[in-house]
Amino acid sequence: MTYLKAMRPEDLLKPMPGGLCSPVGGFHVDPTRAVDKALITHGHSDHARPGHGAVLATQETLDLMRLRYGENFAGTTQAIRYGETLRLGGAEVTFHPAGHVLGSAQICVEAGGTRVVASGDYKDVADPTCVAFELVKCDAFITEATFGLPVFRHGDPNAEIGKLLRSVALFPERAHLVGAYSLGKAQRVIAMIRAAGYDAPIYLHGAMETITRYYVSRGINLGELRAVRDASKAELAGTIALCPPSALQDRWTRRFPDPVSAFASGWMRVRARARQRGVELPLVISDHADWDGLTATVAVTGASQIWVTHGAEEALVHWCTLRGLEARPLGLVGYGEEDETPDGDVSDGSEANTGGLPLPSGER
Ligand SMILES: [Zn+2]
Repeated sequence: MTYLKAMRPEDLLKPMPGGLCSPVGGFHVDPTRAVDKALITHGHSDHARPGHGAVLATQETLDLMRLRYGENFAGTTQAIRYGETLRLGGAEVTFHPAGHVLGSAQICVEAGGTRVVASGDYKDVADPTCVAFELVKCDAFITEATFGLPVFRHGDPNAEIGKLLRSVALFPERAHLVGAYSLGKAQRVIAMIRAAGYDAPIYLHGAMETITRYYVSRGINLGELRAVRDASKAELAGTIALCPPSALQDRWTRRFPDPVSAFASGWMRVRARARQRGVELPLVISDHADWDGLTATVAVTGASQIWVTHGAEEALVHWCTLRGLEARPLGLVGYGEEDETPDGDVSDGSEANTGGLPLPSGER
């Protein structure tokens, strides 16, 4: 096929106030306001919002949106598999694994011989709960920069799990409460604890149950899980329980015997943040690429244009510019509100709060 002239990346995806818009394809990617046609990278609430006319996403992302927002979260839905190509308007779109959470995808938009990849959130390290990040060569790469500063080097997440398990062994009379985001992080932490050989029951805050059960239904083995609300204080001694980060400072913690408070997040690299939240056992485990991951990924995409969004945009833009890449901050607003936000979580942490999740009937 020949074209009169190559398309510019901006013709394929263009930053607009409501998010990335494709003029040639007639759709938006992860729009922050309701649109006719939305392509969604993953289920975190800052990327996946209800109320769009038509939604195209992986089956897992569609299922997670349905669990959070109810059956009528969109006018119509269509599932797309990793690697499958669909023609939308004058563009071809393909979804590729982003390695961020279950079902997460990078979205590749191609037209007129030009290819733009919107990564959504991503990480380039192993995660037993989702398909590994796939490198997609492109002309323009749209990268997140949640941890886009050289100070953020996440290190080995398995070493952090080792820290947790040593503490559990050291304090058999105390409960260990691990704050973790309800979609993705909690299930990854549980899977890593299992991989490290811990096979006792793991306890869940009410806000974690529905999504965690969904992961299990998709074949992710998380071992024996129990609800905190069904356990006595004595039974919780020496156990590990997962809860939304905000629950760590909640009255809810009183049901545990002398709890050790832990928090699994990339932000735990910053000691002041751990102290500020009263976290005794910071665990540096992130579902976002760290500085090394971001720069390595940007380099190997082969893209000559790098667009940087949500996070420390300027530092990564500067790094790209020094390497002769054309880079710019997108300045999109409305992202980074759910997962890995520095200062909170969507849930208020009370057991009555399901983190936006309607619980199936009979479960409460
Ligand atoms: Zn995310």
